[in-house]
Amino acid sequence: MNKALFLDRDGTINEEKNYVYKIEDFIFREGIFDLVKRYYDSGYAIFVVTNQSGIARGFYTEADFEKVTQWMSLEFRKKGIEIKRVYHCPHHPEITGECLCRKPNPGMIKQALDEYGINPAQSVLIGDKDSDVIAGKKAGIGTIVRINETGRIEIENGTVYKSGNTTN
Ligand SMILES: [Mg+2]
Ligand SMILES: [Zn+2]
Repeated sequence: MNKALFLDRDGTINEEKNYVYKIEDFIFREGIFDLVKRYYDSGYAIFVVTNQSGIARGFYTEADFEKVTQWMSLEFRKKGIEIKRVYHCPHHPEITGECLCRKPNPGMIKQALDEYGINPAQSVLIGDKDSDVIAGKKAGIGTIVRINETGRIEIENGTVYKSGNTTN
């Protein structure tokens, strides 16, 4: 296995709300399971890369995050999708100082590339923000898609950035 799908969490897997750390606030976006299943069935390893500055801010704990993560992973498993690993950045620059993992930095993606021997050029990143696109570009991810922010996720409606293409 040498290609991966990197998924942002908030706004991509689940509907954007401020600081989701409770299962009852975690609403899967319409179309996300179908989208991820397509990649999973095509042999992509599935990773989640998510900024969680709410931990640095003291809004919730690592344990809260872990609980939601395990529940989320189980929901994917019920749909026949195995998430390889969830990487999160618990930092915030003004509270914990600068870090290499907070997107738009590529630290979480690079860690996955290293740990699992993933080829970035053959990989895909899907997110909803500039910071996702920038992190993906810095890590050399071949295809980056910024998805539509509302309604059903359709990759065809997203904005696609190819590696090396900095014009759009
Ligand atoms: Mg997001
Ligand atoms: Zn960090």
